[in-house]
Amino acid sequence: MHEIECSLLRPPKIKATVSPEVDAEVTEDMVRTLAASQHAPTAHHYGRAMNSVESPRDKATIAVTAGRPERVPDAPLNTPIVPASAFVAGGPTEYAREGGLTIAAFEELLAALEGTPDSTPAIAVAFSSGMAAADAVLDTVPIGGRVIAPTTTYTGVAVRLRELRDRGAIDLNLVDITNTDAVIAATESGADLLWLESPTNPLLEQADLPTLLAQARDAGIRTVVDNTFATPILQQPLHLGADIVLHSATKGLSGHSDLLLGALVTTDDQLAETLRTRRILLGAAPSAFDAFLATRGMRTLAVRMAKAHASAAYLAEQLSAEPTVSRVRVFGSMLTMEFGGDADRAQRVCEATRIWVHATSLGGVESSLERRRRWPLEADHVPEDLVRASVGIEDPEDLWRDLARAIKES
Ligand code: PLP
Repeated sequence: MHEIECSLLRPPKIKATVSPEVDAEVTEDMVRTLAASQHAPTAHHYGRAMNSVESPRDKATIAVTAGRPERVPDAPLNTPIVPASAFVAGGPTEYAREGGLTIAAFEELLAALEGTPDSTPAIAVAFSSGMAAADAVLDTVPIGGRVIAPTTTYTGVAVRLRELRDRGAIDLNLVDITNTDAVIAATESGADLLWLESPTNPLLEQADLPTLLAQARDAGIRTVVDNTFATPILQQPLHLGADIVLHSATKGLSGHSDLLLGALVTTDDQLAETLRTRRILLGAAPSAFDAFLATRGMRTLAVRMAKAHASAAYLAEQLSAEPTVSRVRVFGSMLTMEFGGDADRAQRVCEATRIWVHATSLGGVESSLERRRRWPLEADHVPEDLVRASVGIEDPEDLWRDLARAIKES
């Protein structure tokens, strides 16, 4: 290799290098190209540089700083979308099911939010959806293995668990996760996986996570906590002793109702590798575009959640005083309201709002609501008249006026 002084670029000067084969015919154009290529964005330039940030502790700061490109001149402030299915051979990522730069930025950001600077670093693995992430966890259970899960877990997961049980793939033990003694009793017979979701979707039931996770650890049972509803802003299950944290990043994490994405987070290197392998073999890799949008959305996670939590608390208080509303539950940005057993009224309320959108899913900047039992697969334990509401970042007074009018007209 020969070095060529290159003064074609602005300072600082760099040295372009050329290989002997092209040395014979070095033209000015070639030098310009080579020099430019050394300034061109590379994997190195887009490398994730969270660790160079001085141990931020505040989640708002972590949300903004983690997973961003290395701070070198001309580097972009955001990891770009890299739409590639294959990468030049020789590096750790050769094919898009293994990941990619945009996906790695999302994973690094989520790992930083679920971990802390003081604890063992967390590792996140992104999936094409929350359900794909759930399946990757279930795929680690040996055939015929025992899974303990909440009776009231999210419908998609509940249906998948029953499906696996019915085909003999797992032995399923459904438990009331609000009954800590009952869950502990279930773990005493041993299990391969304790599935926890707290709070649950849509009933907002909560488990005593520290007690149950400690019990499972003592019993040698792997644990997963679906943290979709709480988000790392309200709860960090790895700190409470969980082996795996699951997210439907489709929801509050990304926050704009414009993508599908899932993720698993763990502090166990080997387990992370196993889960990453599941992603590769199940073909459940996310798109770079969705990972980009999620990372962008997560930059504002803390401020969005602060606003939504305050508004949800305010709305819960207002709803509690409504004569036709028989029960109100609230957790974070999620609310449920029941209408004294009147499912038709509940349905009419959902259809009568103007600011609140009548839609499934949740966690977006826009407030949304739906009667969950309108879905044929929703479980019987969810009351027919229960409306699940996700509070966004609109003005809480506007939200209340819209909802109060819809209730009155219904
Ligand atoms: N977990 C919870 C608590 C959910 O609410 C959902 C979806 O609603 C999922 C997992 C599945 O996530 P996704 O829709 O991204 O597949």
